Amino acid sequence: MTDIIQLLPDHVANQIAAGEVVQRPASVVKELMENAIDAGASTIKLIIKDAGKTLVHVIDDGKGMSVTDARLSFERHATSKIRSADDLFQLHTKGFRGEALASIAAIAHVELKTKQDHEEVGTCIEIEGSTIVSQEVIVTPKGTSIAVKNLFFNIPARRNFLKSNTVELRHIIDEFHRVALAHPNISFNLFNNGSDVFNLPSSNYRQRIVNIFGTKTNEKLVPVDEDTEVLKISGFVGKPEFAKKTRGEQYFFVNDRFIKSAYLNHAISSAFDGLLKNGTHPSYFLNLTVNPQTIDINIHPTKTEIKFDDEHTLYALLRSAVKHSLGQFNIAPVLDFDR
Ligand code: ADP
Ligand code: MG
Repeated sequence: MTDIIQLLPDHVANQIAAGEVVQRPASVVKELMENAIDAGASTIKLIIKDAGKTLVHVIDDGKGMSVTDARLSFERHATSKIRSADDLFQLHTKGFRGEALASIAAIAHVELKTKQDHEEVGTCIEIEGSTIVSQEVIVTPKGTSIAVKNLFFNIPARRNFLKSNTVELRHIIDEFHRVALAHPNISFNLFNNGSDVFNLPSSNYRQRIVNIFGTKTNEKLVPVDEDTEVLKISGFVGKPEFAKKTRGEQYFFVNDRFIKSAYLNHAISSAFDGLLKNGTHPSYFLNLTVNPQTIDINIHPTKTEIKFDDEHTLYALLRSAVKHSLGQFNIAPVLDFDR
């Protein structure tokens, strides 16, 4: 008899997991920004070089980590956010899988600086391809700074697969917008190659949208507000006359998490029935608040798809809430002059 099965070493397992979690620099941006939010940050700064291929650096003023936690944070399945599988249905954090930092550290050079509020000094850890190369006591402000350099340095095939800087930066800005829209009360900064691209002060939702998409957006927004036993809907839809040929500004959040759902997106577009010119798409910025027990976020590693217990009811409620708002604001059907 010959035994042939072996357990993969941790660094190999991490590298494999990284394949799912980290598709491109924008995935690193998402994971690090979400960690900063979970840490209770009120200010988050994102610094990018070469569309994230050379550097993705996130600095927050959140609660920071102890020395032991700073080391542990890079282990796989190491998380402070859940304790048991039951907690998956009580989630109030973005993270829970405990694999983002382990995955990122497996395929990049990472420098972590962190300090808790009550501590005099903090910790600096450098880790390259899952190996800790240095650990020091440092003087650093309260919060956490994580710099991710040379992404995919040890997986040339993945590095070569990255798109042009323009395309990768576009993905980063998309992620940045999603996170910034979900948390208007947090202030965000984005620097790219040394220049200040976005400077978003803490504000309300309408102001945040306007700060991102420009002052002209203000007059386009129709508020949507609906509070039922099953869910709460809040946010804005764009007036039909501002609908565009491209599906640009369509943002849908569930419990402060950006979600992709073709089905629920359809509920929104169908509420615009008869109001849109052919081939145009409405813009919307909508937040759903539901009981965390009625959704499952753990169906995909990037957590942008979720499973709802009762999608049909949500569809109906969402459609009627949007219809109601459009009606209230006396928006008449578009007359089609082309015919
Ligand atoms: P998850 O977010 O799923 O828990 P991560 O790998 O992203 O997994 O992070 C592991 C742990 O490291 C987190 O649970 C958290 O305790 C800690 N951590 C990560 N980033 C930060 C941060 N910016 N501030 C404070 N703690 C952090
Ligand atoms: Mg995380």
